[in-house]
Amino acid sequence: MESATLKECRGLLGRRRALGEEVQSLERISQNGEELLAVSTDKGGPYLSRALVITAGHGAFEPRKLGVDGIDEWEGKGLHYFVREKAVFADQTCVIVGGGDSALDWTLGLQDTARAPIALVHRRDNFRALESSVSQARALEGEGRVRIMTPCEVRDVHGDGSIEAVTIENTNTGESEQVPCQALITLLGFHSHLGAIAEWGLELEGKRQIRFDPMTCETNLPGVYAAGDVAGYPGKITLITIGMGEAAIAANNAIAAIRGEKVQPKYSTDLASSQDSSLRGRSTTRSSLISSETCGTRRRCSAGAPTCWGSTPSGRPTTAGGRVSRYSSPMRRLRNPSRRGWSPACRRASAGGRQGSAGTSTRSSTTSR
Ligand SMILES: Cc1cc2nc3c(=O)[nH]c(=O)nc-3n(C[C@H](O)[C@H](O)[C@H](O)COP(=O)(O)OP(=O)(O)OC[C@H]3O[C@@H](n4cnc5c(N)ncnc54)[C@H](O)[C@@H]3O)c2cc1C
Repeated sequence: MESATLKECRGLLGRRRALGEEVQSLERISQNGEELLAVSTDKGGPYLSRALVITAGHGAFEPRKLGVDGIDEWEGKGLHYFVREKAVFADQTCVIVGGGDSALDWTLGLQDTARAPIALVHRRDNFRALESSVSQARALEGEGRVRIMTPCEVRDVHGDGSIEAVTIENTNTGESEQVPCQALITLLGFHSHLGAIAEWGLELEGKRQIRFDPMTCETNLPGVYAAGDVAGYPGKITLITIGMGEAAIAANNAIAAIRGEKVQPKYSTDLASSQDSSLRGRSTTRSSLISSETCGTRRRCSAGAPTCWGSTPSGRPTTAGGRVSRYSSPMRRLRNPSRRGWSPACRRASAGGRQGSAGTSTRSSTTSR
């Protein structure tokens, strides 16, 4: 890891957007007696911060490559992992490798652009692509516009400065053939990896996730948090809501750590309009409130009294501080509103509903916020 001097640090503390960059290194530097995190990317940085939240999902995606020696050397010389512009392939001899939807879609999609026949090479006789696409390709084969080569694999690439031909072996017969080719389009799917992040000294959960403390979302590296699919603990469910909750927990804890304060989640009602403010403070017990920072859902009963529940990333109900609530299920509380945590106003409204009086049942009239 290259060391960053302050002079090199172009990134200043503060908000800054750096899109289309892949993180590479993380180091700690000292500035005015303060320890800061310095993140560098493939295109820039170092970006300085007092805290870092890693939300890299399943990591960086890369196309799967052909198992041919020196294949990378042909990038930009006729080897393609995507079809971005059809015009690039105008009147070119094309070999497409793959057996999935992308391979079949582009075999059909380049019919009006590339020179016929387009060779479609797949290592198995059966394709994973949609049957209708395969049928269309076979029909075009009958017209001499597609050449389907199975079970075959590309063994070598030839050319002088750019691709001119590929050697294709039939793995059943062992016979090889040199096929003219100006554009070799390999559509073999993608694989993801944590990349450079895996080298930062983070404890991992399995091979692809960063282990963190679900209570704070902090990793084993102080000041470095994780949230979303990249963050792991036993039983983690990778869903958008979970990731959103974790991101809020991470941000909340990071801010508290930076300011040297106790973690104090704010409620959405603290930010609400003055209209809402009249409802605030009515019959709510702090321990019964769940903040949005803990993945919670706030609901308001017909009586206007907020009554809430939420859950930890593992799905367990929590209190405002993120601690696991004694209530095993929000539904239990719906069934038994006398339990602790219900505001008196809410209890009244619920009881009225259950007794069929003028009051409205909480269950039937709660509105999501
Ligand atoms: C097919 C499919 C369907 C789904 N359907 C649902 C659904 O219906 N409901 C639901 O709740 N969830 C669904 N999910 C799960 C949901 O998509 C994820 O939980 C969510 O997107 C995770 O968000 P994230 O921000 O953690 O990661 P991502 O959304 O994966 O974002 C990660 C980002 O980090 C970037 N990145 C990675 N590595 C680096 C690096 N080294 N440097 C810089 N940037 C990097 C990536 O490019 C990407 O932009 C689905 C997932 C899949 C695959």
